[in-house]
Amino acid sequence: ADSAMYAAKRAGGSSFAFFEPHMDAHVREQVELQRDLRLALERGELELHYQPKVSGDGRTITGAEALARWRHPQRGLVSPAVFIPIAERFGLIGALGDWVIQQACTQVRQWLGQGLRVRVAINLSVHQLRQDDLVQRVQGAIDQHRIDPTLLTFEITESVAMEDAEGTLRTFERLSAIGVHLSIDDFGTGYSSLSYLRRLQAGQLKIDRAFVRDLESSADARAIVEAVVRLAHALGLKVVAEGVETAGQRDVLHALGCDELQGFLFARPMQPHLMALWAQGEGRPTALDFRESAYVP
Ligand code: C2E
Ligand code: MG
Ligand code: MG
Ligand code: MG
Repeated sequence: ADSAMYAAKRAGGSSFAFFEPHMDAHVREQVELQRDLRLALERGELELHYQPKVSGDGRTITGAEALARWRHPQRGLVSPAVFIPIAERFGLIGALGDWVIQQACTQVRQWLGQGLRVRVAINLSVHQLRQDDLVQRVQGAIDQHRIDPTLLTFEITESVAMEDAEGTLRTFERLSAIGVHLSIDDFGTGYSSLSYLRRLQAGQLKIDRAFVRDLESSADARAIVEAVVRLAHALGLKVVAEGVETAGQRDVLHALGCDELQGFLFARPMQPHLMALWAQGEGRPTALDFRESAYVP
């Protein structure tokens, strides 16, 4: 309080102004959010939304990525870019990660009941990757919901995978052994080597959005994407491009041989019932249902 007063005096002369210096406000918000996040799970404020992945030509759906959302009673929809790091820092990511796995499997089962076979990709955090019993937890959810494990893909960010490269190799081996697919997310932002990629039991690389964004304006970005596609295919991996926003990007990615595409051009992440409509194809949702999706294949 003293330093706040001091800053107020400095800024406003002798007038009294009670304000929180920037850092204090930030810290206070983090503490508030972590307190709320503890309750969010019990209160059912967390949701999984789903963003379609489509084939390289953009014509058929190949699956969907589950993306966590927090419907905060006061703040509205909070981004996972905000609450996942908080969950990691305050020891909540274990419970949150479990919930995501359970919820995604529940959804896959529900869609199967509706005659829809949607392949779902689940993001894993660094903490989950280090859980000794991660594989048992995944297997447990698969058994409980009677799901074909090949319907599930687990995405691990390249930089996270490389934090403990040998540990990741072992975990990937064990996950692969139970039949789920594995994907390296945000590829190009970490530092994995060719020999490492060859040893890793991943079936897929997801090219980071940054390269996709610059695709039309930067010859370098284009060269990088081209090289990643060649490399991945040489190693027997599929390539997914994330963050596809324009038809121009789609066309370049398709021409370069990208296997799957994902991005706002096709659809935004959406609630499960809209995802189901999208996946059904017929009764293809109208532009009104998907106000923000510019392109329907
Ligand atoms: P990510 O796994 O790389 O997910 C892709 C992010 O890009 C999502 O952001 C998605 O909404 C966004 N995106 C998709 N298409 C486009 C596009 O065309 N343009 C732009 N600008 N963005 C696009 P979101 O949902 O905010 O998630 C951010 C990150 O939070 C994810 O990045 C992932 O690392 C993490 N995350 C989300 N859900 C979970 C979860 O359930 N568990 C864990 N551990 N992490 C999660
Ligand atoms: Mg992802
Ligand atoms: Mg990604
Ligand atoms: Mg990303």
